[in-house]
Amino acid sequence: MVNIMEAKYKFWFYIGSQPLYGSDILNQVEEHGRIMTESFNADQTIPFQIVFKGVGTTTNKITSLCKDVNKSKTCTGLITWMHTFSPSKMWIRGLSILNKPYLHLNTQFNRNIPFQTIDMNFMNTNQSAHGDREHGFITARLRLKRKVICGYWKDKSMRARIAIWMRAAIGAQFSRDLKVARFGDNMRYVAVTEGDKVQAEKDLGWSVNTYALEDLLQKFNQIERGQIEEKLEEYQSKYHINKEDWESIKYQAKLELAILEMQKELKFLAYTDCFQDLGGLEQLPGLAVQNLMSQGIGFGAEGDWKTAALQAIMGEMSKDLGGHLSFIEDYTYHLEEGNEAVLGAHMLEISPAIAQNKPKIEVHQLSIGDKRNPARLVFEGREGPAILATIIDMGGRFRLIVHDIAAISPMEDMPKLPTARVMWKLQPDMITGNEAWIYSGGAHHSVISYDLTAEHMKDFATIMGIECIHIGKDSTLDNLQNKLLINDIIWNR
Ligand code: MN
Repeated sequence: MVNIMEAKYKFWFYIGSQPLYGSDILNQVEEHGRIMTESFNADQTIPFQIVFKGVGTTTNKITSLCKDVNKSKTCTGLITWMHTFSPSKMWIRGLSILNKPYLHLNTQFNRNIPFQTIDMNFMNTNQSAHGDREHGFITARLRLKRKVICGYWKDKSMRARIAIWMRAAIGAQFSRDLKVARFGDNMRYVAVTEGDKVQAEKDLGWSVNTYALEDLLQKFNQIERGQIEEKLEEYQSKYHINKEDWESIKYQAKLELAILEMQKELKFLAYTDCFQDLGGLEQLPGLAVQNLMSQGIGFGAEGDWKTAALQAIMGEMSKDLGGHLSFIEDYTYHLEEGNEAVLGAHMLEISPAIAQNKPKIEVHQLSIGDKRNPARLVFEGREGPAILATIIDMGGRFRLIVHDIAAISPMEDMPKLPTARVMWKLQPDMITGNEAWIYSGGAHHSVISYDLTAEHMKDFATIMGIECIHIGKDSTLDNLQNKLLINDIIWNR
C-alpha cells in the first residue's frame, strides 16, 4: 500500500520503445507497464507511489515527458526501463535537460525464457537485455547522474533497492528546499563547523541564514501559561520526571515553544545554537532541542549547520521507517583489547528518537559555559546496525562520509554520566575505522541513523553531485587513501 502521508512524493515510470514494432507490440508493452505499476504500488516494500506515464517512442514524446518531469511539483524522480529497443538518440534532448533524480531499471516482464515457444516475435517484444544497454550507453555518454538497478521486477531484493533510491531522491528534493536557521555563530576557533554557505546552497540547496537571539528571547517572553502546561503534559507522557526539577523543565518547555514559534514563522526545518552565544537565555536549550529533534527538526550544536541540515534530510528520508536518528558526537574511546568501542554522546543534545528505554529528564550543571543548570533527557541509545554520516566542507565542494557501525549495549552502567549516550563498534574494526574516518576528515559531529544504510547515502550524494566516502566492512586504508587522493583531483575540477 502506498503511504498516504507521503503522497507529496511520487515517482514517474516511463518505458522506452520505438514506432517500428507496430501497435500490437506497443500495446502489449504499455499493458506490461500498467501491470508492473499496479504491482509496485500494491507492495509495501516500495513506500512511495509510482505513476505510469506510458511508452516513449519518439524524440518529441520523450523530450516533452522530461520537461513535464522537471515542471511537476510532485514528481520526485523519473524511472525508466527499455522494454524493447529504444534508439537512444531519441533520448538525448530529454535527458540533457532532466533535472530530477533518475533511475534506470534493467528488468524483464517475463522471468524465464519460454524455451518451447520462444520465437522472433517474443525476442523482439522482450529485449531489455539489448535495449537497456543502448540506454546505458547514452546515459554514460551524457555523464548523467543516475542509478542503475538490475533484477527481476517481482523480486523483493530489487524492490528494496528501488525503495532505497526513492528515499535518496526524497532527500534530494527536501534538501533543495531546506531552510536552516542559525541562532548565534559557530563555536569560537572550531574549524569543521565552518563552511561556505553560498556553495552549500548551490550544491545542496540549503538556505542557511542567521537570526537574532533577541528575536527568540522575545518569542520566549510571549509564551503563555496554557501553552507551557500543554508542553509539560507532553513531557510527562513521554519521559520520567523528577518533580524537584520542575522549574528547570518549565524553562526548557518555554524554550521549545519559542523555537517552535520561530520555526513556524521562518519555516526552517533545521537550526543551530551555540553555548557561547546565548544572549539573554538563562539555560542552554537541552530538553527543548532533544524533544524537537524527535519531531523531525534537524539540530546542530556549536553552530554546526551542516550536521543540522543533514539530520533534517536523513529524518525526511526515514520518517516512515520510524526516524530513528540523532545528532551525535564521538566522545570517548573504550580501548580494551578485542572489545574496543566508541562512546558517543553530547553535552545535552541527543534525540530521544534513538532511546532504548523511556528517557529520564534530569537537571545537572553544565561543565562548560556559565549559564543555569539545564534540564536534559538522559538515556541509553538503542542497539543495532546503524550508520554515522557527516558532511564536511573541503573548500569549494562538500564531502559526505558514511561509516557502518553497530550500536551496542555498554559493557557496564555509567551511573554518573549526566547525558544521553550510545556505544558502538566500527567497521571494519576499531583501528582501521577510526583511521579511515580521520584520514577522510570526518567531523566529530555526525548523524547516527538506524534506518538508513550507506547505499541510501551514496545514492543521495550521487543525485546531489557531491563526493561520498563510505567506510564499511571491506574498507582498507590503502584503498581509502588512494581514493581520497584520486577524488581530490576528480572533484576539484
Ligand atoms: Mn559538539
